Amino acid sequence: MTEIEAKGIFERNNALRKGHYVLLGKDHSEYYVDKNAVLCNPQEASYLYIALAAKLAEARLDPEIIIGPQMSETLMAPWVAYYLSQTLRHKILSLYAEKYCNDFKLRPQAIQVMNGKKVVLMDDIFQRGTSFSGMAKTVNNAKGIIIGAGVLWRRGQYDLTNFFNCRGNIINLISLINTKLPSWPNEKLCPLCFAGIPINTDLGHGKEFLKKSRDKLFVCPNCGGIADWIDKPAGIFCCRKCHAVPAGLEFD
Ligand SMILES: [Zn+2]
Ligand SMILES: [Zn+2]
Repeated sequence: MTEIEAKGIFERNNALRKGHYVLLGKDHSEYYVDKNAVLCNPQEASYLYIALAAKLAEARLDPEIIIGPQMSETLMAPWVAYYLSQTLRHKILSLYAEKYCNDFKLRPQAIQVMNGKKVVLMDDIFQRGTSFSGMAKTVNNAKGIIIGAGVLWRRGQYDLTNFFNCRGNIINLISLINTKLPSWPNEKLCPLCFAGIPINTDLGHGKEFLKKSRDKLFVCPNCGGIADWIDKPAGIFCCRKCHAVPAGLEFD
């Protein structure tokens, strides 16, 4: 499968969304990859898993275990493990890591199984690689040997210096789609915030972002854009988008 075909699967499932999104790890972006819109459809998802398994085989990654985060609604790891084991003709186990705050934990049985095994880390979308560095730590602690990582879409521009395996090597990251989608590391550098473009709260972390910044920002009642509090107790604000100010107040 080519990168264009893989992207086509995301597009035809309306999974590439345009707006103003807050991503995990505080990044702002005009684009959001709504992976669940694709991965809830097993037929469409299977094309991606087969293609990713083929890419892992092509890169000569030969794991005994594939591990992904538990909360990935997608449960990619079992399917990629299944398709890769068909190609490599040996058993590949699939494990999951449970997320607690910023740490990933394995069940005691999984820790036993992991010891000394070749492991590939798996996730759906790569932005900063937060999940990967968490999982890498967990696998290293359980004495698994990380030989690589796989993602469907590597959208972030971040490098991989955070991902060291126990031998100190940088982990080989295989991605089906490599198209980078621009993002900014925080709201101060985000041109969409500067222009007052409303933040989408249906996908990503926009709702949490607005809740956290409610002392500084709020949603303009006039246009839904981002407004700054000038004097919160007095109810005075200024909207970045429509430049509305409360009735009866003038700025000069
Ligand atoms: Zn923004
Ligand atoms: Zn407004």
